[in-house]
Amino acid sequence: MVKALWEDFLKIAKEEAGSRVVETWFKAVSFQSFDSISNVVYLQAPNQFVKNWLKSNYMSLLQTHLGRLLQVHELKIAFVDDIATVAETSAITPSNDSFQMVPAQLAGERRGALAPLKTMARQVQGNINPAYTFDSFVVGPSNSLAYAAAHAITEKPGRLYNPLFVYGGSGLGKTHLLHAIGNAIKDNQQQAHVLYQTADRFVNEFISAIRFNKVHKFQEKYRDIDVLLIDDIQFISNKEQTQEAFFHIFNSLYEGSKQIVFSSDTFPQNIDGIAERLRSRLACGLVTDMYLPSLETKVVILKKKASLSGDHLPDDVAHFIASRVVSNIRELEGALIRVTAFSLLTKQPLTLDLAKRVLVRATEQAVSVDGERVMKVLARHYPYSFDDLCSKNRNKDIALVRQIAMHLLKKLTDKSLRDIGLFLGGRDHSTVVHALDKIEQLLHEDRFLADKVKRIESDVLA
Ligand code: ADP
Ligand code: MG
Repeated sequence: MVKALWEDFLKIAKEEAGSRVVETWFKAVSFQSFDSISNVVYLQAPNQFVKNWLKSNYMSLLQTHLGRLLQVHELKIAFVDDIATVAETSAITPSNDSFQMVPAQLAGERRGALAPLKTMARQVQGNINPAYTFDSFVVGPSNSLAYAAAHAITEKPGRLYNPLFVYGGSGLGKTHLLHAIGNAIKDNQQQAHVLYQTADRFVNEFISAIRFNKVHKFQEKYRDIDVLLIDDIQFISNKEQTQEAFFHIFNSLYEGSKQIVFSSDTFPQNIDGIAERLRSRLACGLVTDMYLPSLETKVVILKKKASLSGDHLPDDVAHFIASRVVSNIRELEGALIRVTAFSLLTKQPLTLDLAKRVLVRATEQAVSVDGERVMKVLARHYPYSFDDLCSKNRNKDIALVRQIAMHLLKKLTDKSLRDIGLFLGGRDHSTVVHALDKIEQLLHEDRFLADKVKRIESDVLA
């Protein structure tokens, strides 16, 4: 997507400034990232000369057209080599997490709208996103432990669970929670030096410190921190030198009772390519997990997100979106934005019918898995084999799992009802129709079963 955006920009620049300019100057530059929180585009120039030339001649062209393509007013342009200076003067560094291309304008406006005045005043310090607070975080069984631990450490940073290690799949709220810790500590102790950094950025910063002979400064910067929030620590794997540097920073902070928080998509023991001594440090405090929320929690999250953006989300629409999106909360939010944006742009009321039109089309295009995959995942959740399900056995439990299999095959594969019957031991079409009616009814009545089937569905799609 980034590449396409840069290509589009080059086309426009060619029209405006001519192809020689584009060939000479812009083609030498690469688009690194876009930080949608601070509205900064980071570019990389091959050398100082090109950079200075662009700065003195083409800044407004870059700002205008990249700004238009990204749908951002007053876009700022920075060059990656300058990051250290930018970061020191105004505490903004690019963060991949905040990269949001579509619909950028909507997300940007909403984020602005939902940050209360107090948080706006706090500004983006230490890379903390003011919109990600404990208040805007919905607590449910899937994240209550992580939430409780995160909340607890804000009362006594460095004293309680140190380090705190939060792990869970992508899009489940780890980054949000890390920022919430940062925001809460800043609220309690304004002087506290809090820094949020993705491990990715940490690695890049370290590499650039080596290149420019600034390792000492780099280490000083990190040793001077009271609360260090490192997101996606798994990205430090196989970066031996960075791990070494980080190990020393960790020790120095830890010994000074400074709070350290990590997030990762993997349990510490399972992060590959990481030195044993660092691994044991990561797991020496409290390790807590987050998993996929239940349907109820998803509904609450949707309602909260909608109300924060000033939208009214009817219950049936929230329920529909929550049951449709199975993989993670980021996608849940994406679906909500698609539905509300569609209603806003086409000036139609936000109804169940509209949500169905917007989302069903999208999911139907996206989803199609093969039958074997469904059966394999099903076998992880129930003690029956594919053969059991194909057999004529009418045992109640087997019959139920067989119906679930039919339901998932219909929903997730492109098999016709006839194919499904054949696939499951040569059953005829009417048997399948009957079984599907039955399971739909059951799923409607039994929330517990419905949740379980959703979980299986999300595993199939994972
Ligand atoms: P991760 O870092 O685990 O990949 P994020 O923290 O980026 O996930 O979460 C993805 C999106 O989902 C964010 O916009 C976040 O605000 C939202 N989100 C996740 N969990 C919750 C929650 N419990 N309550 C409200 N929003 C949530
Ligand atoms: Mg994250």
